[in-house]
Amino acid sequence: MNRPQSINIPQDPKRLTAKQPSLDSPVTVLRGVGERVAEKLKNIGVETVQDLLFHLPSRYEDRTRVTPMSELRHGERVTVEGEVISTKIIARRRRMLVCELVDDNSGITLRFFHFNRMQMKTLVQGARLRCHGEVREGRYGFEMAHPEYHPVAPGEDTAMEQSLTAVYPTTEGLHQLTIRKLLEQALAFIDQNTVIEELIPAPLYQSDDEMADYNLVQSLQYLHRPPPDAPIEQMQQRAHPCQKRLAFEELLAHNLSLQQARRRMREYQAPVMDGGKHLHTQLRPRLGFDFTAAQVRVIKEIMHDLKQPHPMLRLVQGDVGSGKTVVATAAALKAILSGYQVAFMAPTEILAEQHFRNLDHWLTPLGVELAWLAGKQKGLAREQAMDKVASGEAKLVAGTHALFQQQVAFKNLGLIIVDEQHRFGVHQRLQLMEKGAKAGMRPHQMIMTATPIPRTLAMSAYADLDTSVIDELPPGRQPVTTVVVPEQRRAEIIERVREASKRGRQTYWVCPLIEESDALQAQAATDTHALLQQQLPELKVRLIHGRLKPAEKERIMQTFKAGDIDLLVATTVIEVGVDVPNASLMIIENAERLGLSQLHQLRGRVGRGDEQSACALMYKPPLSDIAKQRLAILRQTNDGFEIAQRDLELRGPGEVLGTRQTGALDLRVADLMRDQEIMTQVAAAAKTVFDQHPEVIKPLLHRWL
Ligand code: ADP
Ligand code: MG
Repeated sequence: MNRPQSINIPQDPKRLTAKQPSLDSPVTVLRGVGERVAEKLKNIGVETVQDLLFHLPSRYEDRTRVTPMSELRHGERVTVEGEVISTKIIARRRRMLVCELVDDNSGITLRFFHFNRMQMKTLVQGARLRCHGEVREGRYGFEMAHPEYHPVAPGEDTAMEQSLTAVYPTTEGLHQLTIRKLLEQALAFIDQNTVIEELIPAPLYQSDDEMADYNLVQSLQYLHRPPPDAPIEQMQQRAHPCQKRLAFEELLAHNLSLQQARRRMREYQAPVMDGGKHLHTQLRPRLGFDFTAAQVRVIKEIMHDLKQPHPMLRLVQGDVGSGKTVVATAAALKAILSGYQVAFMAPTEILAEQHFRNLDHWLTPLGVELAWLAGKQKGLAREQAMDKVASGEAKLVAGTHALFQQQVAFKNLGLIIVDEQHRFGVHQRLQLMEKGAKAGMRPHQMIMTATPIPRTLAMSAYADLDTSVIDELPPGRQPVTTVVVPEQRRAEIIERVREASKRGRQTYWVCPLIEESDALQAQAATDTHALLQQQLPELKVRLIHGRLKPAEKERIMQTFKAGDIDLLVATTVIEVGVDVPNASLMIIENAERLGLSQLHQLRGRVGRGDEQSACALMYKPPLSDIAKQRLAILRQTNDGFEIAQRDLELRGPGEVLGTRQTGALDLRVADLMRDQEIMTQVAAAAKTVFDQHPEVIKPLLHRWL
């Protein structure tokens, strides 16, 4: 119906004579793109002609045909055409203009909540209209609210659109029509020139019959201007071969880039660590327990890597409580006994402090000198620690990322251990290794994450790492019993806290992120703390949040660990790693606002001793169906891998990997969730490219990254 009207923009004579743009040309080479439009386009990630071509529609509308009103269905977007039989203003709760439209067999009601006099002139009885909009089934039959419409004179040539109408993701102030016009130019440009080179060697996707049917240019043309009979449903679900074809290429580019980083890293030398022959016998009495079979297996994998003359890059995944810290300790001891220093980094001070204490307990008796470095540490203590690290006296230094940001010099750093890595991206990962660089040498790197990452996702997000999985919990652990309760039942929950403390057990009460603000979060926790202390006067209730001074946080955690606090009210600062086996009750407020993996992390703070532990997920009703399903998953399983997979299905990869990680994996066309099934193909294709077509790597990366 509405043919896109030409946008009236003064022609810049310079532009008319400019030579043909290339794919890398800024969008400003297109007619109609001045600074203002360019700025808007930038907001949606479009800066070059190529970006524009890869800016794919989020959905499609069928304006190629008129739907008879007798065939209308609720929820569909259609074009209808008919005659106005009545138009009136009615005043219910709001004033609205109501217009009845009929065709040969049936009719529809149009409703307008905003209207003006001009409209009332067009929508007069007897006028013929063509309308486009979403059909709803109302109490009195089918309706459209605020349809796009235009009058058609009887006998007028009423040409319809020739292809499905693409609807693009956009931003405020950037009209669909503008994007469509610009794409017309960009598409005309690739129609005339073969400027988009086919980079993927045909055999790579020919194993997939569907994808082989379209080349890159055809795919782009099809997706921007689908023929009238294109399968809209399939395309909205992004399952069309053209979409797969593009996703495949994009994922391949990302995979190649990670593999390339990995290959480069492997070209460096790394210290060969073959000291510490009797490491297990030394560590065993300090630990007081035997390693699980899974821990033994993973330690073996690490030991093997550490003996190689090239840097280890290994991701150790293990569910909450699977005992990653002792595995890291074994690796650290291996490095130390081979004569090298170890940096042990954690994401928060609380965690770094906890690691330091554990390591101190396990390693100091073996004669290993430790140091501690945190961001806020000042003065003499800091200088002494730095000196010990620089002189090589300290064999292991634990701390936060301050370890790498500051001017910390190592004598001979051989191994970097990063805990709870999912908070760091690929680039930080590589930067870390640079810190320990010396004349072609790089330290080994071991990364631990408690967020289990489904395999296909790991294949793309962590293609630069080898992976080990600790898939077994230490013996004697009882699964945490989980209940989901509306916040109206707070009194019951408070009773449970009281009972737990009578039995000598401790409780966490978490008030999670309500706003994206530390201050507000701290405030919510502060209020809850006051309330709980009032209702549980006989209990020792303390508060911990991110705004407290590090020393203060540390003191509170130590007191909690020593059993001198019954109830610890916290923000999500305790999310990762904190290990207090005597705590057996976890209360989480506003659980409906958190991701499943994050809830699983929080819940993992209990169930660490041999006592039966419990977790109450409190929510604010009403809960949507999806939210109910999500919380039910936590009630049903304690398996972090399963939870991550379900979370991935419900909320997408951002949740599972953490936002920063997804940022590093900015995908334009592909979707890690939806395109999981082609990931295996992508990995295989990447290998073939490296072996047989290395010349396409550079242009592919240039195109997509
Ligand atoms: P996470 O993998 O979540 O980081 P931790 O390393 O904090 O887990 O270990 C959780 C708890 O289990 C710690 O108290 C640790 O000492 C204990 N632990 C680790 N391995 C074993 C084991 N093989 N047997 C018994 N307890 C273990
Ligand atoms: Mg841990």
